[in-house]
Amino acid sequence: MVWLVAVQFGLYAAGWLLCARLMARERAAALHWAAFMLLLGLGFWLASERDESRSFWAYSGAGFAFLASYLALHRGLECFVHRPPDDRGHLLLLALAGVTLAILGPGAEQAPARVVISYGGGALLMLRLVLALRRPLQAEYGRRVAHLIAAPGYLLIVAVSLRALRQALDWEHAYELHRADHLSQALLFGYLVGAALFNFSFIALVTLRVLQRLHHLSRHDELTGLANRRVLDEAIEREWQRLQRTGAGFAVVMLDLDHFKQINDTHGHAAGDGVLAVTAERLREAARRTDLVARLGGEEFLVLMPATELPAALAAAERLLERLRERPCEAGGLSLGVTASAGVAVARAQDPDAQAALRRADLALYRAKSQGRDRVEAGDNP
Ligand code: GH3
Ligand code: MG
Ligand code: MG
Repeated sequence: MVWLVAVQFGLYAAGWLLCARLMARERAAALHWAAFMLLLGLGFWLASERDESRSFWAYSGAGFAFLASYLALHRGLECFVHRPPDDRGHLLLLALAGVTLAILGPGAEQAPARVVISYGGGALLMLRLVLALRRPLQAEYGRRVAHLIAAPGYLLIVAVSLRALRQALDWEHAYELHRADHLSQALLFGYLVGAALFNFSFIALVTLRVLQRLHHLSRHDELTGLANRRVLDEAIEREWQRLQRTGAGFAVVMLDLDHFKQINDTHGHAAGDGVLAVTAERLREAARRTDLVARLGGEEFLVLMPATELPAALAAAERLLERLRERPCEAGGLSLGVTASAGVAVARAQDPDAQAALRRADLALYRAKSQGRDRVEAGDNP
């Protein structure tokens, strides 16, 4: 029975090794999870060798492999949430437990102490892990999902603590894993279920992250990280509904870089891309927190300003242009002067549709270009 559990963990380890080959970004985490499963498998395999000869590795070695597996799990999760490894506490606990297990040796009379150290140490290591990684997981996945993902960890803490406690309260009897009593059988079964749950958690972590990444990609421009047209249209529709309901207008500032084609032609497309990224960053910095900055395409940007009237929007547009012209863009090792032209318009309740303000801003932008560029023009409002 014990070796069967070892084989199961070996298979899980092989699965995560395969995943590590397939996943580029989460490779380090998957490798650590493979090591976690492998060390657990090693622990069970060593424990399956327990017999009358009482070899050191089958007893103290197995306990140490179990504890070391928690370190691999901890590091894997740290890699996953991009935190620098902070396992001095883990290493210290592991070293202490390792030395104590080595001193105790495989003897039958030391069995209760070995059980308390292996399982009590395991509970402590798992508790440290859950406490350390609670915040980053909650930040990425939200409270409820983070708790669900951590559920196997909570179960493991309860199970191994109870095991250690039971042994501590009954020093006369050794509750070792390889014994054919009901408790050991139940524990082995619990390990099988727990391992499956850990795998589900790892898979959930990776899948949810991939889904979040896809969701972000579908709503943001890859080069600049700004909102794309889809997000902008949704926001404009929302503001339009608010305008119909409350009469609070919104302003749009449409910007287009001046003579951008020359930058591409003179310095290459990569330099042009660099200028676009810097421009996006500056617009984002200069805009208010409530504004939405989007890339319409090419070198055209749009800033949506909720609850803003024309004079304030014109002043904001002047500020945006000033922010672009005040310092050259550092892109591709070059220092390139950049200016933009802007058209500003405010949405009105009598507009035929949500996009009417954008059309007026576009016409105003066209005027700003024809009147010499690097300037702001206001759209005619009905
Ligand atoms: P104007 O002052 O009239 O706006 O002149 P312009 O040269 O900026 O205008 P035009 O629309 O002729 O050129 C826009 C150029 O932007 C053409 C296109 O090659 C370039 N472009 C569009 N998208 C990208 C991009 O993602 N990266 C780079 N590097 N260039 C882009
Ligand atoms: Mg242009
Ligand atoms: Mg253009």
